[in-house]
Amino acid sequence: MIAVNNLHKSFGKLDILKGIDLQIHKGEVVVVIGPSGSGKSTFLRCLNLLEQPTGGEITFEGESITGKKHDINVTREKMGMVFQQFNLFPHKTVLQNIMLAPLKVKKQQASEAEKIALELLQTVGLADKRDAYPAQLSGGQKQRIAIARALAMQPHVMLFDEPTSALDPEMVGEVLEVMKKLAEDGMTMVIVTHEMGFAREVGDRILFMDGGVIVEEGNPSQVFGNPKHARTKDFLSKVL
Ligand code: ADP
Ligand code: MG
Repeated sequence: MIAVNNLHKSFGKLDILKGIDLQIHKGEVVVVIGPSGSGKSTFLRCLNLLEQPTGGEITFEGESITGKKHDINVTREKMGMVFQQFNLFPHKTVLQNIMLAPLKVKKQQASEAEKIALELLQTVGLADKRDAYPAQLSGGQKQRIAIARALAMQPHVMLFDEPTSALDPEMVGEVLEVMKKLAEDGMTMVIVTHEMGFAREVGDRILFMDGGVIVEEGNPSQVFGNPKHARTKDFLSKVL
């Protein structure tokens, strides 16, 4: 579904991503772990072109998205993204937040957009909050709405950048539960997280990033149970 070939990203003279190669298959759940500053967010942001790569190529569903001719907006519609900060529109209700992009960007009929939004509210367990405003929700509820909002665009892949890092500990589980359900339903997902238990349980593949490269990758039992590289071992010894 996604092929990343020798991806580089610099900010000015600062080389952040130093040649990333990766293939992500349909239905796969790829979890990215690694220390702060290793380039995890930059990598995710390059995948959906929130950052313009400075070198290499990304193809998505068979088409190069890094070439000059490519329409960025087409790709973004197919890639949902969820951030650490929920970025809900404060003056819109939950239902309006979820319906906005389908109405404006996809030009969906209001009745169709509402039907999908209500189904998604069921999925994330917040059907009773349809008319609430973001300020009336807990952090965990806000993040579940942010996930529903991303899903409303019917993306082919979901990118998550530390979706539980801003949450109080007691709210982490409810968000991970929604993500787990998505994974079980076959969604293709790329997830940056520090939740190692979740990574191990839900990830098909774990990537360990450090210094702008993928140092090590493998299935969860390989990376967590039998890490090969000293840097991976060192990182895991600090977080597990
Ligand atoms: P991570 O998500 O793994 O913590 P990031 O991708 O956010 O890492 O950042 C990697 C490095 O890139 C950091 O040193 C950060 O300061 C730098 N960086 C990220 N975005 C920018 C930017 N827009 N301009 C300059 N430097 C940046
Ligand atoms: Mg980050």
